[in-house]
Amino acid sequence: MCSGRVDMAHVARAFSNGIDGVFIGACHLNECNYITHGNYHAINMVLLFKRIMEHIGLNPERLKMQFMSAAEGNVFAESTNEFVRKIKELGPLGKGEGIDEKQLKSKLNEVSKLVPYIKVAKNEKLRMRLVNSEEHTEEYDKIFTKEEIETLFKEVPSYYIDPEKCQACMTCARRCPADAIISARAQVHIVDQDKCIKCGTCFTACPPRFGAVTKIVGKPVPPPLPADKRAIVRKSKEEKAS
Ligand code: SF4
Ligand code: SF4
Repeated sequence: MCSGRVDMAHVARAFSNGIDGVFIGACHLNECNYITHGNYHAINMVLLFKRIMEHIGLNPERLKMQFMSAAEGNVFAESTNEFVRKIKELGPLGKGEGIDEKQLKSKLNEVSKLVPYIKVAKNEKLRMRLVNSEEHTEEYDKIFTKEEIETLFKEVPSYYIDPEKCQACMTCARRCPADAIISARAQVHIVDQDKCIKCGTCFTACPPRFGAVTKIVGKPVPPPLPADKRAIVRKSKEEKAS
């Protein structure tokens, strides 16, 4: 498939499944046959994921992207052979870096879960094309910095539905891609924090007249309302009763 279709989620899944190294072959930059130039997206994604690997203690050399054309069979053979040699030298995933297996699994699971958030947060950089860029230049290496990735993980948001504002219109639950919103008719909706992938869809989907979804960064999320206290008395009914 086109290198532009290779998603961070695919790379994260490969490592989560214990693969020792991931090799992506792509057409040379500026030689894409389509206006999409997906290989720019691929190189940006690879550079970002390499920084994420560093952040969780993995050697970024376990992920490689090689530009090549269909006529460059020699480049394919040489680069894959060299990559296999490198991976053998690094040893099994995690062991080579001295990371405990359980700890690594939990870190990779966390990264996999945060892929939608990371893609939204870094959307602009993932889409950029460096003008007059050469492949593998120092300029490219500077797109994502270590500090930036630390901030990215420090500022992971949580989404919380304010029980005072939720009107149970169900819009957020219908749009949530992770089925992470506990939803029932005429009941305050609740974000299941364990299932939430931090995509922010509910935040933008909640109608402005309700504005019930709050984005929380750096603070604990209030506990969810107990199930027996979630019934909503709609404002109009309250008003009618009074
Ligand atoms: S941020 Fe909202 S829409 Fe996205 S997964 Fe979490 S609860 Fe669902
Ligand atoms: S979209 Fe807003 S008002 Fe509607 S159920 Fe979700 S949180 Fe409540």
